[in-house]
Amino acid sequence: MPVDEFSLIETFFRRPATPAAGVLTGIGDDCALLDGGAAGTLAVTTDTLVADIHFPARASAFDIGQRALRVNLSDLAAMGAEPRWFLLALTLPEADENWLRAFSAGLFAVADAQGCALVGGDTTRGPLSVTITAMGAVPANVALRRSGAGAGDLVFVTGELGGAAAALADMTETGACRTADATLNTRYWYPEPRLREGVALRGIASAAIDISDGLIADLGHVARASGVGAELELEKLPLCGAAVARFGSDRTRDWALGGGDDYELCFTVPPSRLAALEAAVRAGHLRALPIGRLVPGTGVSARDGAGQNVALTGTGYRHF
Ligand code: ADP
Ligand code: MG
Repeated sequence: MPVDEFSLIETFFRRPATPAAGVLTGIGDDCALLDGGAAGTLAVTTDTLVADIHFPARASAFDIGQRALRVNLSDLAAMGAEPRWFLLALTLPEADENWLRAFSAGLFAVADAQGCALVGGDTTRGPLSVTITAMGAVPANVALRRSGAGAGDLVFVTGELGGAAAALADMTETGACRTADATLNTRYWYPEPRLREGVALRGIASAAIDISDGLIADLGHVARASGVGAELELEKLPLCGAAVARFGSDRTRDWALGGGDDYELCFTVPPSRLAALEAAVRAGHLRALPIGRLVPGTGVSARDGAGQNVALTGTGYRHF
């Protein structure tokens, strides 16, 4: 019987708890947190992008290279860590010099801008796939985890949602590797890892995650890890304006809830730290909007503008 991704990890890869020395957070968060001694805490994450599953194989090599690093750095952002080093495991059908030149230019454009150094990797022949392992630093005891939030905490999101999934839907429909709308294209190919925001949220957010799989799934991970439920206010979701203009607000809301690839941060703040969040926003360290709250219970639920409960499905929502 096929198992889903998360039960597969739980069944075959999570070992009975005798925590290995130095592991502050193991399987189950955006990064593992490892005790780096006097150097602080090391945040480590790895993500694989497979051609024609995670991106169109015919896409520009520059775009593939820079996006692969961006999505890994997003997991560092979700922990409040600052990027330091990364490894690159590359599987290529052939060693095409032009492709490699463009790919590495894209990769290093992001690496250099973020001060993240390539320190190793692996190169093999096979169907195109890019695996990056990124490592970042965060001072001891201030990393943002998925656990740690409590009922009564407010839920916030940085930036706008739904744009990346809109771009992907458009590319799938047209068979093209880019979308004509420049904003949507940027939302899919050039997601901004919210690193500055993650750092600013140290000591303020009670939990955080980056939205790679859609708000319902990712806020659901925070709720489960924190042992609470979450209640979204659908009218407050910051929808990507370009997606709304092109596809309407209903479709865009579905993409925000159930699509993916936005790489914004979703985080929670206890009432006692709202003033600190407001101060950070006023100081220009981040922009974020409240979209709901955590409640006793389990799961993610939602209310519409009239305060009516709305049933959420995996891919969007429907009224009762
Ligand atoms: P993210 O979307 O933040 O990259 P994932 O949803 O991919 O996180 O993974 C959930 C958790 O499971 C993470 O902590 C990840 O490190 C862990 N994980 C995923 N695959 C494996 C595996 N094969 N073995 C061990 N841990 C894994
Ligand atoms: Mg993540």
